[in-house]
Amino acid sequence: MKTEASNNQKKNVKEAKSSSNFIKQIIEEDIKANKNEGRVHTRFPPEPNGYLHIGHAKSICLNFGLAKEYNGLCNLRYDDTDPSKETIEYVEAIKEDVRWLGFEWEDREYYASDYFEQLFEYAVQLIKAGKAYVDSLSPEEIREYRGTLTESGKNSSYRERSIQENLDLFERMRAGEFKDGEHVLRAKIDMASPNIIMRDPTLYRIKHVSHYRSGDMWCIYPMYDFTHCLSDSIEGITHSICTLEFEINRELYDWVLDWLEVYHPQQIEFARLNLSHTVLSKRKLIRLVEDGHVTGWDDPRMPTISGLRRRGYTPEAIRNFCNRIGVAKADSMVDIALLEYCIREDLNKRTPRVMGVLRPLKVVIENYPEDKEEELEAINNPEDPSMGTRKVPFSRVLYIEQEDFMEDPPKKFFRLAPGREVRLRYAFFIKCIDVIKDPDTGDIIELRCTYDPATRGGDAPDGRKVKGTLHWVSAKHAIPSEVRLYDHLFVKENPNEVEEGKDFSTYLNPNSLKTLKDCKLEPSLAKATPGSRFQFERLGYFCVDSKDSTAKALVFNRTVKLRDTWAKILKSHQKNTVDK
Ligand code: ATP
Ligand code: MG
Repeated sequence: MKTEASNNQKKNVKEAKSSSNFIKQIIEEDIKANKNEGRVHTRFPPEPNGYLHIGHAKSICLNFGLAKEYNGLCNLRYDDTDPSKETIEYVEAIKEDVRWLGFEWEDREYYASDYFEQLFEYAVQLIKAGKAYVDSLSPEEIREYRGTLTESGKNSSYRERSIQENLDLFERMRAGEFKDGEHVLRAKIDMASPNIIMRDPTLYRIKHVSHYRSGDMWCIYPMYDFTHCLSDSIEGITHSICTLEFEINRELYDWVLDWLEVYHPQQIEFARLNLSHTVLSKRKLIRLVEDGHVTGWDDPRMPTISGLRRRGYTPEAIRNFCNRIGVAKADSMVDIALLEYCIREDLNKRTPRVMGVLRPLKVVIENYPEDKEEELEAINNPEDPSMGTRKVPFSRVLYIEQEDFMEDPPKKFFRLAPGREVRLRYAFFIKCIDVIKDPDTGDIIELRCTYDPATRGGDAPDGRKVKGTLHWVSAKHAIPSEVRLYDHLFVKENPNEVEEGKDFSTYLNPNSLKTLKDCKLEPSLAKATPGSRFQFERLGYFCVDSKDSTAKALVFNRTVKLRDTWAKILKSHQKNTVDK
């Protein structure tokens, strides 16, 4: 059965082929018509109340990418109007992530909180124009008076306060004379509007909370809808690109700017990124962190930029992913396999190959002298000969992967078995002659083998073939390491679809992290530095953990397996399109 995600994928593959999208078309028409003197100025407007995730990366690539493509500018603007959840830690993390993704905002770092005084003045102007009033209904009453989708709302009894009284109350709200919730400033629009957003939306609320930037200067804070359009206007943004859920807010965006008669950017909505097997909402990501389901925002299982970075993702792979998924006007779900495909494609080109054994099984080569050792030449990257070769030591005692041996193998098992010969990568053919078991448990603890010195380098001069090639490390030279293997964070394709009475955390994958403490790696990895990336032959791409790894105790994260389900989807898609 085809999943929603894989069907959407095919569409996305098609879209990626055309370099244009509807936003570019709008911009190109604007340039042609010399709107804004042909200027293109965008912004990326995060609220510093959490770390950035892969959905934000889509918005970053889009906003900074468009500015670059049309010789324009893109601002980094913090939309920091809700002091209860915003911190400087988040501000710094956001900067680090945007920069790491490869984008630069130069001196254009702005904060909505820096506009508080100006926004207050704008609010006063609206009051003076009879377009805003102070309402003293309780929050519950305001909700009740708002009406529903099918029923219009009703006017507040405070709606007809005089301009003078409104000005006076608004000043006193600012001066701190009232408690939270006692009054709000509302736009005076239309309580019968079919668009609920337009039913006298709140512009300011009282909040006696310190702001991480403005401190205790303010105890009233402007709402998002009031702040966002005016911040765009103040900064001379030409195209204010936001996600689809703000489509219904556009009417208010336009209303505020039109009544204040200020410069009026154009709001354009696009579909947010939804990724399968994970969640992309700060509210939910915070829950995962706070409830201890993950070790932090940068846990390598998190869909955050910092999590992906720690997992071993490259900025190039993420940018490439964002280009591939394209920009659409309808919400859809992208299969996480596409993200994995993008990182695999990038790491395949750039990473050196090495050998590491995750679950070691001891192998003794009986006809190899005790005190002998030799070095064999191994290719660093078959995709890129310029990466050269390295030496790998070989000796009498080796480790191979436990799963590369079966005592009683089924037909299609081509690896090592009693009496069978296989190739050790870059080394020799070996043949298993005996199996040693733990007398108590019956577990296989050691294999006794012989090797054929004539097969040095991996080929038999007599032309005899073997079906399996195994990776291995020399026991004496091996570097011990911890390796962390990851799987999807959620077992459900869309954990946002929650069954009645359940919570999204019900769908967490209990096996999303597997820690292997006793791995053995080839000695060239002794010098691997935090963040460096490798392909462990046959096992996937791995990187040195940037937090927990030390020179004495290496820790590796598996970024992604080698097996590529996405390539299969692509192939079948190409086949389907040829067939048509
Ligand atoms: P979340 O839903 O995760 O809390 P948000 O929209 O509240 O996200 P903001 O900090 O306000 O987070 O987002 C900054 C910008 O990133 C906004 O312009 C927003 O539209 C965009 N953005 C957020 N999530 C996504 C997503 N999943 N796909 C594309 N763009 C996104
Ligand atoms: Mg938001």
